[in-house]
Amino acid sequence: MVPRYPEFRPGDILATTFTGTLSERQGEPVERLPSPERLVDWLIWQHLMVSFCSETELADAKRLRESIHLVATAAATEEPFPQQPLDTLNEFSAEGQAVAVLTSGAELEWRLKSVSVRDALRVIATDAISVISGNRDGKLTVCASPTCRAAFLDTSRGRTRRWCDMNTCGNREKKARFRARNA
Ligand SMILES: [Zn+2]
Repeated sequence: MVPRYPEFRPGDILATTFTGTLSERQGEPVERLPSPERLVDWLIWQHLMVSFCSETELADAKRLRESIHLVATAAATEEPFPQQPLDTLNEFSAEGQAVAVLTSGAELEWRLKSVSVRDALRVIATDAISVISGNRDGKLTVCASPTCRAAFLDTSRGRTRRWCDMNTCGNREKKARFRARNA
């Protein structure tokens, strides 16, 4: 059976997993959040318990997503931050309400003030700020795939990771090299 929607791509970092809901930005883009319902599914999958999403909220989420993408890319390539996306990121961080909770398992968990998308987007914006400001272990890098170029946080020991995702971008590159060798 063919799935009705493109699948979500898993990831360890909330902010870049979110930007990964649009992939192949430099090729033929794959939109993994084609409807408000899919955004609700994605947020719940990330333990951000929202109950409903409107078309406007989906548009807001995509505005935040592309802003994170642009600012993170600028950070990864050591360019100045583009002003408008930076303002958007900060705007989403300032709005919405969520509190950080420490669980007995020593993990950070976000508890949304309500079940609204706006509160969930605040959590994502906060995560993006923490990643882009260099507050996390890892180095922001741009994916080596020419059709992807997604910014991701390289947490490998030697900071030698080249692809945002081994299963997609990395695998494709390996296959392309194999084909080139055997042509
Ligand atoms: Zn990639």
